[in-house]
Amino acid sequence: MTDRPLYNTFSKEELNALLDRETFERRTLSFYRYTPIGDPTSFREEIYRLFAGMQCLGRIYVAHEGINAQMSVPEPETEHFLGELDKLPGMKDMPIKWAVEDDSRSFLKLIVKTRKKIVADGLEDDAYDVSNVGRHLTPEEFHRHSLDPETLVVDMRNDYEYEIGHFNGALNLQTDTFREAMVRALDELGEQKDRKILLYCTGGVRCEKASSWLKHHGFNDVNQLHGGIIEYARFVRAEKLPSNFTGKNFVFDNRMGESIDGKVISHCHTCGEACDTYTNCSNDHCHVLFIQCSKCAEKYEGACSPHCQSILHMSEEEKSSLSHEVLSNNPVAGFNNAAIRRRQFEVENTCTVNRSHAFLHDKKTAPADDFPRRQNPFSSLLLYKKQKYQDGYTPSLWPGWNRVGGTDRW
Ligand SMILES: [Zn+2]
Ligand SMILES: [Zn+2]
Repeated sequence: MTDRPLYNTFSKEELNALLDRETFERRTLSFYRYTPIGDPTSFREEIYRLFAGMQCLGRIYVAHEGINAQMSVPEPETEHFLGELDKLPGMKDMPIKWAVEDDSRSFLKLIVKTRKKIVADGLEDDAYDVSNVGRHLTPEEFHRHSLDPETLVVDMRNDYEYEIGHFNGALNLQTDTFREAMVRALDELGEQKDRKILLYCTGGVRCEKASSWLKHHGFNDVNQLHGGIIEYARFVRAEKLPSNFTGKNFVFDNRMGESIDGKVISHCHTCGEACDTYTNCSNDHCHVLFIQCSKCAEKYEGACSPHCQSILHMSEEEKSSLSHEVLSNNPVAGFNNAAIRRRQFEVENTCTVNRSHAFLHDKKTAPADDFPRRQNPFSSLLLYKKQKYQDGYTPSLWPGWNRVGGTDRW
């Protein structure tokens, strides 16, 4: 028997056409559980067959440590799906998080992958006790504590998630991956071992690890938002409370975000207009995740920069003469960081929005101490980013700035 039935082989267009023809609605949901799975490969095959048979779509990771799933389930199959999930070993009484905004288009296909870990923390299995988790707070409890100025709210997600929405006053760890965030959290929280710490992430799966990691390092009052922002959003809607989370909750499917309070707190990386729509650069060699408004998407044909736009119009022959670094608009090999890249674009375009302009303009008069110590193509950008935080863009809890992707402290 071949394993073909276990993989989806349609193109994106074919998959979209299939969704167009569907006569039922879909519901987007997610769940996770840390539970020992002895043979992730055979478990993967079992759930692939089962879920594909119900026309479920989504992305599921299976590892020895458990399961993490984001899915789109046909509305008529919902009860059947929940019943079958319940019968699987280790999956009984799974807490399900339902999306608050749904267009039945969150996923185009079903992907079930085995992974070393369901959430990559970059640490050895025995580095800390993942079962010694922090206190789970209900959305109501989290809401109440997050309004207390004495508590420290920490966003365990990535910088690009924080940018479009976050809890008011939350600490942004300014990282691109969870493994960086784990290291950075210790750095940033420092000696505040007795402070009440409130962790949150999208659905809660990252906080399970982050809270045990902080407890392992001697933090005494570690709390986490049970069910993540998704459950919090449902809670404030149901209770008609003013949300302490402002903006959009970034989600890892085609929707790329669920609006929580209807506010747009981020800006188009190209022109600076208020915008919270993420997209990937249309230059496939670059593909960087960035925010772009519809006007700029049209003007730059979905490219992140004039450079990437020019790549779009090159012949295959022209492209073959260029290095990967040039094609991917990535001047430093392996340095692919949206947060830095969008600032590169702003400078290329002498963007006059937000604080960067004033700062770049002021560069001549800035005190010598403020200048970067290293000489590289990103110097001014790195410095600008630092300035942005000193400017009070994020809460003053932020004590300094670490170079992303390295260990240098400024
Ligand atoms: Zn724009
Ligand atoms: Zn690009």
